Amino acid sequence: MPWYHQKCDTCGDLPDVPRSVEQYKVCFECGGPCEVVIYPTRTVGIVFSNAEESKQLGTRWETNQQKRDWMKAHPNVVEMSKGDANDRKFNQRIKNQMHDSLKKQGLTLNQLKKAQRDDTRRMDLAKGKAEKKIVLDTATPK
Ligand SMILES: [Zn+2]
Repeated sequence: MPWYHQKCDTCGDLPDVPRSVEQYKVCFECGGPCEVVIYPTRTVGIVFSNAEESKQLGTRWETNQQKRDWMKAHPNVVEMSKGDANDRKFNQRIKNQMHDSLKKQGLTLNQLKKAQRDDTRRMDLAKGKAEKKIVLDTATPK
Protein backbone atom coordinates (compact mmCIF):
# COMPACT_ATOMS: atom_id res chain seq x y z
CA MET A 1 0.00 0.00 0.00
CA PRO A 2 1.38 3.46 -0.80
CA TRP A 3 2.03 5.94 1.96
CA TYR A 4 0.84 9.53 1.84
CA HIS A 5 1.34 12.78 3.63
CA GLN A 6 -2.18 13.97 4.42
CA LYS A 7 -3.29 17.37 5.62
CA CYS A 8 -6.63 17.43 7.44
CA ASP A 9 -8.49 20.55 8.61
CA THR A 10 -9.40 18.73 11.83
CA CYS A 11 -6.35 16.56 12.49
CA GLY A 12 -3.60 18.66 10.97
CA ASP A 13 -0.57 17.13 9.28
CA LEU A 14 -0.48 13.36 9.02
CA PRO A 15 2.80 12.44 7.42
CA ASP A 16 3.38 8.80 6.47
CA VAL A 17 -0.07 7.26 6.52
CA PRO A 18 -0.81 4.05 4.63
CA ARG A 19 -3.76 4.55 2.28
CA SER A 20 -5.14 2.69 -0.64
CA VAL A 21 -5.25 4.62 -3.90
CA GLU A 22 -9.07 4.92 -3.55
CA GLN A 23 -8.78 6.34 -0.01
CA TYR A 24 -5.79 8.59 -0.19
CA LYS A 25 -7.99 11.70 0.17
CA VAL A 26 -9.83 10.24 3.20
CA CYS A 27 -8.23 11.29 6.48
CA PHE A 28 -6.46 8.43 8.21
CA GLU A 29 -7.46 9.77 11.65
CA CYS A 30 -11.04 11.05 11.37
CA GLY A 31 -12.20 9.65 8.04
CA GLY A 32 -13.09 13.09 6.75
CA PRO A 33 -11.96 14.57 3.45
CA CYS A 34 -8.40 15.82 3.45
CA GLU A 35 -5.65 17.26 1.30
CA VAL A 36 -2.68 15.25 0.21
CA VAL A 37 0.54 17.18 0.51
CA ILE A 38 2.87 14.75 -1.13
CA TYR A 39 1.87 12.04 -3.52
CA PRO A 40 2.99 8.50 -2.76
CA THR A 41 6.40 8.89 -1.24
CA ARG A 42 7.26 5.29 -0.53
CA THR A 43 5.86 1.84 -0.81
CA VAL A 44 5.65 -0.43 2.20
CA GLY A 45 8.70 -2.31 1.03
CA ILE A 46 10.85 0.77 1.18
CA VAL A 47 9.31 1.90 4.45
CA PHE A 48 10.53 -1.30 6.03
CA SER A 49 14.05 -0.38 5.06
CA ASN A 50 13.53 2.71 7.24
CA ALA A 51 13.32 0.47 10.28
CA GLU A 52 15.40 1.83 13.11
CA GLU A 53 16.24 0.51 16.47
CA SER A 54 17.80 1.87 19.58
CA LYS A 55 19.92 -0.57 21.49
CA GLN A 56 20.05 1.93 24.31
CA LEU A 57 16.26 1.90 24.68
CA GLY A 58 15.69 -1.65 23.47
CA THR A 59 13.07 -0.34 21.05
CA ARG A 60 12.55 -0.90 17.36
CA TRP A 61 10.43 1.14 14.97
CA GLU A 62 9.39 -0.32 11.65
CA THR A 63 8.27 2.98 10.14
CA ASN A 64 8.95 6.68 10.58
CA GLN A 65 5.39 7.10 11.81
CA GLN A 66 5.86 4.46 14.50
CA LYS A 67 8.99 6.21 15.66
CA ARG A 68 7.28 9.62 15.69
CA ASP A 69 4.41 8.20 17.74
CA TRP A 70 6.84 6.62 20.15
CA MET A 71 8.81 9.85 20.53
CA LYS A 72 5.54 11.75 21.12
CA ALA A 73 4.61 9.28 23.87
CA HIS A 74 8.05 9.67 25.47
CA PRO A 75 8.63 13.42 25.64
CA ASN A 76 11.59 12.88 27.95
CA VAL A 77 13.53 11.15 25.17
CA VAL A 78 15.44 13.41 22.81
CA GLU A 79 17.10 12.02 19.75
CA MET A 80 20.66 13.17 19.33
CA SER A 81 22.87 12.68 16.37
CA LYS A 82 26.56 12.32 17.07
CA GLY A 83 28.34 15.63 17.29
CA ASP A 84 25.30 17.90 17.47
CA ALA A 85 25.08 20.58 20.13
CA ASN A 86 22.94 18.51 22.53
CA ASP A 87 25.28 15.56 22.21
CA ARG A 88 28.32 17.70 22.96
CA LYS A 89 26.58 19.31 25.96
CA PHE A 90 25.58 15.89 27.24
CA ASN A 91 29.11 14.52 26.94
CA GLN A 92 30.53 17.58 28.64
CA ARG A 93 28.08 17.22 31.51
CA ILE A 94 29.03 13.55 31.95
CA LYS A 95 32.71 14.47 31.88
CA ASN A 96 32.20 17.18 34.49
CA GLN A 97 30.26 14.80 36.72
CA MET A 98 33.04 12.26 36.47
CA HIS A 99 35.72 14.83 37.35
CA ASP A 100 33.67 16.03 40.33
CA SER A 101 33.20 12.55 41.67
CA LEU A 102 36.90 11.76 41.15
CA LYS A 103 37.86 14.89 43.06
CA LYS A 104 35.64 13.79 45.95
CA GLN A 105 37.38 10.42 46.02
CA GLY A 106 40.81 12.00 45.74
CA LEU A 107 41.60 10.13 42.52
CA THR A 108 43.10 11.30 39.24
CA LEU A 109 41.67 10.36 35.87
CA ASN A 110 44.71 8.18 35.14
CA GLN A 111 44.21 6.26 38.39
CA LEU A 112 40.58 5.67 37.47
CA LYS A 113 41.50 4.51 33.96
CA LYS A 114 44.07 2.10 35.36
CA ALA A 115 41.53 0.74 37.84
CA GLN A 116 39.03 0.24 34.98
CA ARG A 117 41.66 -1.55 32.88
CA ASP A 118 42.49 -3.80 35.84
CA ASP A 119 38.80 -4.54 36.33
CA THR A 120 38.32 -5.40 32.66
CA ARG A 121 41.36 -7.67 32.76
CA ARG A 122 40.14 -9.41 35.92
CA MET A 123 36.75 -10.04 34.30
CA ASP A 124 38.36 -11.29 31.08
CA LEU A 125 40.54 -13.63 33.11
CA ALA A 126 37.52 -14.88 35.03
CA LYS A 127 35.70 -15.57 31.75
CA GLY A 128 38.79 -17.29 30.36
CA LYS A 129 39.10 -14.63 27.67
CA ALA A 130 42.62 -13.55 28.43
CA GLU A 131 45.56 -15.80 28.90
CA LYS A 132 47.11 -15.72 32.30
CA LYS A 133 50.55 -14.24 32.38
CA ILE A 134 53.03 -17.02 32.93
CA VAL A 135 56.32 -16.07 34.51
CA LEU A 136 59.12 -18.48 33.75
CA ASP A 137 61.67 -18.58 36.47
CA THR A 138 64.77 -19.61 34.59
CA ALA A 139 67.01 -18.77 37.49
CA THR A 140 65.79 -21.69 39.60
CA PRO A 141 68.75 -23.91 40.43
CA LYS A 142 68.35 -27.66 39.83
ZN1 LIG B 1 -8.88 14.24 9.96
